[in-house]
Amino acid sequence: MSMGLSSVADVVRDSARAALDLVAPGTCAGCGLHVSTPLCESCARQLRAANPVARWISTSAGPVPVFAAAQYEGSVRAALIAYKERGRRDVGAQLASALTRAVSTAATAGLLASSWLLAPVPSRRDAVRERGYDAVSLLATRAARQLRGRGFDTKPAAVLRQARPVGDQAGLSISRRRSNMSGALVVSAQRDRDLVAGRVLVVVDDIVTTGATAADACRALDECGAIVAAVVAVAGTPRLTGGPKGGALGRLDGANAFAIGLG
Ligand SMILES: [Zn+2]
Repeated sequence: MSMGLSSVADVVRDSARAALDLVAPGTCAGCGLHVSTPLCESCARQLRAANPVARWISTSAGPVPVFAAAQYEGSVRAALIAYKERGRRDVGAQLASALTRAVSTAATAGLLASSWLLAPVPSRRDAVRERGYDAVSLLATRAARQLRGRGFDTKPAAVLRQARPVGDQAGLSISRRRSNMSGALVVSAQRDRDLVAGRVLVVVDDIVTTGATAADACRALDECGAIVAAVVAVAGTPRLTGGPKGGALGRLDGANAFAIGLG
């Protein structure tokens, strides 16, 4: 299968940026510009002002709304890859702020109870070993701190575990991703199962594309008696997930999402 022009451009840009990271650590994680901050002003603005994504994914526990702070494209995409794959931990604070906005949207829409837990999707173990940090867990911890600062009663609950080694999702079709992920996540420790039973949970991931990983996280939590109110992510794609109830809701403006179909 040949790559589309845009993906070729993405690959070229990613390679150029990887080379830049090696020779010039003082660069913007979004565009490679030489700056002394993690993101240049323009990329930081794009992350702050990016169009949010809201849509449904279908899960074994029924349809669950997904909120992402930004579209997974351009410098947002580049910054996430730099954070996850190239050790750019310094951009974590700004990515966590985006995540905080996505959670706030779900809260403003009245989806969350007075108290809820943030459950990060765990990274693959080999990836954590390689990078030295769990990218999503770190974002959830930072976002929880920011949300508490805004008066929300929340904390991170790193209860999800990889039940078995999972292959890299990149490059797989939607159906292959679903079978790759199905049953991959589990809440294994009894104390974790007790912690989430009957509680309102928000699943946290960095990126939601097909929704296969998020749906599996919802299933694992639902099986423990948790109430999964929403999935939140830094970035997402608005396209169809392929599930019976999975539908794109397009670019939505915060809680207005609910006026046109999520409510
Ligand atoms: Zn930039």
